[in-house]
Amino acid sequence: MVDLSRFQASGSRTCFHGRHIEPQIYAGLDGSNWRLADYVARGGYAALKKVLGKDGGAGLTPEAVIAEVKLGGLRGRGGAGFPTGLKWSFMPRQHPGPKYLVCNSDEGEPGTCKDRDILRHNPHIVIEGMAIAAYAMGVRTAYNYIHGEIFEVYERFEEALAEARAAGLLGERILGSDFGFDLYAHHGFGAYICGEETGLLESIEGKKGQPRFKPPFPASVGLYGKPTTINNTETFAAVPWIIRHGGQAYLDIGKPNNGGTKIFSVVGDVERPGNFEIPLGTPFARLLELAGGVRGGALKAVIPGGSSAPVLPGATMMDLTMDYDAIAKAGSMLGSGAVIVMNDSRCMVRSLLRLDYFYMHESCGQCTPCREGTGWLWRIVHRIEHGQGRPEDLEVLESVAGNIIGRTICALGDAAAMPVQGMLRHFRDEFVWHIEHKTCKVAQTV
Ligand code: SF4
Repeated sequence: MVDLSRFQASGSRTCFHGRHIEPQIYAGLDGSNWRLADYVARGGYAALKKVLGKDGGAGLTPEAVIAEVKLGGLRGRGGAGFPTGLKWSFMPRQHPGPKYLVCNSDEGEPGTCKDRDILRHNPHIVIEGMAIAAYAMGVRTAYNYIHGEIFEVYERFEEALAEARAAGLLGERILGSDFGFDLYAHHGFGAYICGEETGLLESIEGKKGQPRFKPPFPASVGLYGKPTTINNTETFAAVPWIIRHGGQAYLDIGKPNNGGTKIFSVVGDVERPGNFEIPLGTPFARLLELAGGVRGGALKAVIPGGSSAPVLPGATMMDLTMDYDAIAKAGSMLGSGAVIVMNDSRCMVRSLLRLDYFYMHESCGQCTPCREGTGWLWRIVHRIEHGQGRPEDLEVLESVAGNIIGRTICALGDAAAMPVQGMLRHFRDEFVWHIEHKTCKVAQTV
C-alpha cells in the first residue's frame, strides 16, 4: 500500500500557478475512510444529486452533463488522452436495446499504480462518476474490470457497491428519480493485453482477452455487440468534481486543453516513490521535489508516461511541464502518468532489454509484426547487452521497430517499438559503446 502521507503532500493547498488548488480525488483521505458514510461526509454523491435534481435544483440534462465535461477539458487518464466529453458524445443515445459502460481498471502498465489506490481509498468516487456518465449516455448497465492481481481491491469495490445499492444509489429509481442504473465488478485475468479496451471486452464476454480489429469501434459495436463506452478509473473519478464545481473551474486548475489534476505514479530512483495528484501543467521539477528528489545519483533519464512512452533525458525533463501537450512536443507521451525516474547508474541497454522482454512476453500473438517483431527486438538487445552485438544491430533495431509501428491490430506493437526508438534517439552512444567494447559504458564509470 502506498503511504497516504504522499497524497497529503501532493494534495496540500499550494498555489502552483498563483491559484488555489483543491485536490479532487485524494482530498481528505487517511487510509481508513473509504466507506460510503466517509465519502458522503466529504461531499460525495452531491454531484449525482445535482444531476438528478435531488439537491433542490432543477437537475441537468444528459446533454448538459456532457457539455460540462467537454468544457472541463477532461482527457482520458488511461493512456491515450482522448477528450472524455467527445467520447461520451459518440454513444448513440437513441440506440434501441442495451448499451454498456465499462471502467477499465485493468492497470498493468509497468510503473503505474494509481487506479488501484483510487479503488482502494476512494471507491465511491468511481461509482458516482460512472453513475453520472451512465445518466449522460443513457446507459443502464456497467462493469468495472479490475486487474487480476489485486484481489483485495476487487473485494473492497464489491463492498462499496453493496453499500451504494443499500443506500439507493444504484438500482431502480436512484434517489427517487426515473434514472435506473446498475454496476458490477468484474475480476480480470492478469494479462497486460486485457487492459487494451477491446481485449478487455472479449475478456468480460468470457473469451481469450485478444484485441479486436477496429473499426468497428466499441462506440458502435462493443460489449456483446452493443454500443459501449470505456473509460479509465481515474477519468471517472474526476467527473463528480467537474459536475459539482463546473467545467470552467476544472479547466482553470490545469492549462488549456489539459484540464484539472492528474495523478502521477512516481517510481524508480526517487526518495519517496508514490502517487501524487497535481494540476496538469505543473513543472516536472516540482513533481520530482514532491517525490523527495533523485535517489542514489544524478538524474539521467525519465520515462514520463509508463513503460511504453519513449524515454527523455533528465535535463530535457527538468524544463518540461507535466501535461499532454508539453510531453508530446518533447517527443514522448504522458500516457498513464507513470513517471519512471532513472539515475546515472542505470544502463540504458539493460533497461531496454527489460522492457523488450516484457512486451515480448505480453504480446497476444495475433499479428505477425508484434508477435515476431517483439522477439526480434529482445534478441538483438539481448546480444548487445551480453557483449555479442554486431555493427549493423542498431540499424536492424530501428528497422524492426519502424516496421512494427502502425502495422498491428492494437497499440501493444507501438508500445514495444517506441521505447526502442526513444533509447536510440537519446542514448545511442551507450549502445554503440556496448557493441564496440563488448561491455557496459555505465559500469565503467560508476
Ligand atoms: Fe496481439 Fe500484439 Fe497484435 Fe496487439 S499488436 S493484437 S498484442 S499481436
